[in-house]
Amino acid sequence: MASTMPVPETLEKLDMYIDGEFVEPASGEYFESFDPYTAKPWALVARGNAEDADRAVQAAHRAFQSPEWRGLHPSQRGALMRRLADLVSENAQRLGELEVRDNGKLLSEMAGQLRYVPSIYHYYAGLADKIEGSVIHADKPAFTFTRHEPLGVCVGIIPWNSPLMLTAWKLGPALAAGNTVVLKPSEYTSASALEFVKLVEQAGLPNGVVNVVTGFGAEAGQPLVEHPLVRKIAFTGSDRTGAHLYSTAARDIKRVSLELGGKSPNIVFEDANLDNAVKGAVAGIFAATGQTCIAGSRLLVQRSIHDEFVDRLVAFAKTAKMGNPMLLDTQVGPVTNLPQFEKVLGYIDVAKGEGVETVLGGGRAERPECGDGWFVEPTIFTGVRNDMRIAQEEVFGPVLSIIPFEDDDEAVAIGNDVVFGLAAGVWTENMRRAITMSERLQAGTVWVNMYRAVSYTMPFGGYKRSGLGRELGQQAVLEYMQTKSVWISTAQEMANPFVIG
Ligand code: NAD
Repeated sequence: MASTMPVPETLEKLDMYIDGEFVEPASGEYFESFDPYTAKPWALVARGNAEDADRAVQAAHRAFQSPEWRGLHPSQRGALMRRLADLVSENAQRLGELEVRDNGKLLSEMAGQLRYVPSIYHYYAGLADKIEGSVIHADKPAFTFTRHEPLGVCVGIIPWNSPLMLTAWKLGPALAAGNTVVLKPSEYTSASALEFVKLVEQAGLPNGVVNVVTGFGAEAGQPLVEHPLVRKIAFTGSDRTGAHLYSTAARDIKRVSLELGGKSPNIVFEDANLDNAVKGAVAGIFAATGQTCIAGSRLLVQRSIHDEFVDRLVAFAKTAKMGNPMLLDTQVGPVTNLPQFEKVLGYIDVAKGEGVETVLGGGRAERPECGDGWFVEPTIFTGVRNDMRIAQEEVFGPVLSIIPFEDDDEAVAIGNDVVFGLAAGVWTENMRRAITMSERLQAGTVWVNMYRAVSYTMPFGGYKRSGLGRELGQQAVLEYMQTKSVWISTAQEMANPFVIG
């Protein structure tokens, strides 16, 4: 992935988007982007550096101060965003196919995401003119109120697993709030951001309001985070990178929101509807080839039903159809990039070395329908202890660890005994248990008798090492704003100037 090379005729060449124009990188260098289904490069992506980052931030800063953007009434901003939402709908097929090629996501999953992404922009378009301060009665002779103001230039750093969706989670509230944005897509999946931004232009957003800088994290991302004109970093990615960006941003006291990884417990009680719980376990770990931050990668099963549940789960998971992600009936696609493919296989070896039992899969998929692609067999381990690395570290692939438990207390203890806290699932028909488990689990999202559901109306984010701040929902807009308190005196006479008023 990291190789740079002269530009061959056959690969599509993708430039960055700065100040309303597609521009070549200052370095003049490009790197290959791969199709994970064929394991072959299909495009060349501009290799951005600090010079490109500076150009993009300067453009966003100018746009933030321009009458074309700052002078818009929030309703007009909303109207532009609605137009963008409609354009995403109209271009969904093309955007979806592009993402499948660059990322290996299933076309069926992309169809679902691209029905949804426009709703996110519509939702935040609707909020743009409903961001209201309050009149507050201070205990002083003054008329006092608050107003929420945009921050300025915001940087959105996006991972490779769901690029268009996670872009919308950031861009929607950032634009509704009146900011300008520089997006930095993952070096593994830059193509969709560059296609999407054509729609931003078509929708009529002024030049410089949305910019895209492509390239590697250290070369193109880091200078964005360090740039003195940037006021906020909205990051989704690994906890290691998130911790590094958090400390970098601290130097200038920049606002940060972090959506990081997870090792989420999906907990099945003996009183659950087991047919649904089996489907929920599969949705938790094999959907999106396990490459989701909310993967239910630790399946906690009550001991009394453990063996029966494992048999049913394995029987169902075995039927998953692997292969070409462009085919609508494929259920498990490739891993998105070679380092991640090797990392997943490495974790399978770690687990085997820790003494687990492999009851499904356990290696590279050598099926004819998988060709040379980066496919891993859906893998299920039993006999996992919660202190093993396979139970504590995020694999980000189709690898499930099953851990038995005795009762509610033990389920909570095991479920919470991990550094992450992004999500949790609970399967039970007992309402009291559902409520108490949802209270006791340390996770930003708890699903009961469902898994992997998100909505633009519901706040999303992590406890503990899974992150800071919340995306989605109304409160996300305030993550991109600052509050100003305004005091207007109603007193005839100024009070004693030597005493606090
Ligand atoms: P990553 O942390 O390696 O990279 C994420 C992004 O950060 C990429 O665009 C990368 O180029 C950029 N980056 C890397 N170093 C940087 C630096 N020094 N300065 C600025 N930018 C830098 O993560 P990834 O491998 O792309 O994504 C997978 C991870 O993302 C998983 O851990 C997963 O759990 C997490 N994730 C979390 C959520 C969530 O909402 N909580 C959603 C999806 C993915």
